[in-house]
Amino acid sequence: MKILVADDDPTSRLIARKTVESLGHDCDTAIDGNDAWGAYRRGQPDVVITDWMMPGQTGLQLCEKIRAEPDGGHVYLILVTSHDGHAQIVAGMSAGADDYLLKPLSRQALEARLIAAARISSLHRQLACQRTQMEGLNEELSKLARRDPLTGLWNRRVLQEDLALLDDRVVRYGQRFCLAVLDIDHFKSYNDSYGHQAGDAVLCAVSGELDRQARAGDTLYRYGGEEFLCVLPEQTLAMGIGAIQRMRASVQLLNIGHSANSLGVVTVSAGVALLGPDETRSVVEVVKEADDALYKAKQLGRNRVEAIGPITSASDPGRAPGRSPAWPSATRGVSATNGGNE
Ligand code: GH3
Ligand code: MG
Ligand code: MG
Repeated sequence: MKILVADDDPTSRLIARKTVESLGHDCDTAIDGNDAWGAYRRGQPDVVITDWMMPGQTGLQLCEKIRAEPDGGHVYLILVTSHDGHAQIVAGMSAGADDYLLKPLSRQALEARLIAAARISSLHRQLACQRTQMEGLNEELSKLARRDPLTGLWNRRVLQEDLALLDDRVVRYGQRFCLAVLDIDHFKSYNDSYGHQAGDAVLCAVSGELDRQARAGDTLYRYGGEEFLCVLPEQTLAMGIGAIQRMRASVQLLNIGHSANSLGVVTVSAGVALLGPDETRSVVEVVKEADDALYKAKQLGRNRVEAIGPITSASDPGRAPGRSPAWPSATRGVSATNGGNE
């Protein structure tokens, strides 16, 4: 063990040090209370054997200060005193000492104390080690609870939490968001042709590519089996569509063979919707609009990005200011962006 001996009397200090070393421990020494405090901070000993009466600060004060440290509970503290009155001993133990020794120091008494100290120190080390393992496991568990195990993207649970926050940000801070739902085209037939494992690999490749293409601030979630949802903050509808078009194109460029697709490679379709400030719609309704736009993209031939409603210029927030009505789908104008049909 690493042991710090603090005593202002050179002879007592020397005897204590020789005894500690003869018992096979490493020993550091301090000549008064302040020196002991510095040596404790520097050396982080397992055991401190401290004289009670010392200049600078007393052994009692030293015990209190060590116990107040974040790791100070692990140190085994032994007070050395010439007081053998019950009240003094109780005061020493109350200040944080684990044990006490009476002067003059005897080798047998010190040896017995250090056996107890070794046992307690080893328990503290085991506890610290277990705590570190528990912290690591907790971190791992909370990560697992929030990430989709196959793709590593944020999972649906996180999406639900984040969508609830979006409502708040739109209402309170007047922010706007684009929401996009992306879906792999003809994925069922991909699984049928190439097998489920190959399908899993495609899900990973596509989600990885979408994630790489997402800009800082955009967030991508695994929304369902082969569906992904992307939140793009502070975008007009036109800008959001442009960003999702780049994602769509980059998936096509992965060039993953898919014989049932007319292009012969894996593609995605997407629907984009805007949630702007001063809107009365909930985020859930906006997700539904993005879903409707995705359906439209599928109907219009796949490998496309679609929106429902007018797409205004990039500098325009995408909706007229003021409380916009909850547009019924049937009356919405359709502005499609075509990424190249199958
Ligand atoms: P569409 O172009 O209209 O989207 O057609 P689709 O075949 O992609 O859509 P559909 O909803 O009919 O099929 C989705 C398929 O996605 C069916 C399901 O087996 C597959 N799928 C869902 N989750 C996973 C997964 O984790 N791994 C694999 N390999 N396949 C999955
Ligand atoms: Mg699909
Ligand atoms: Mg789907």
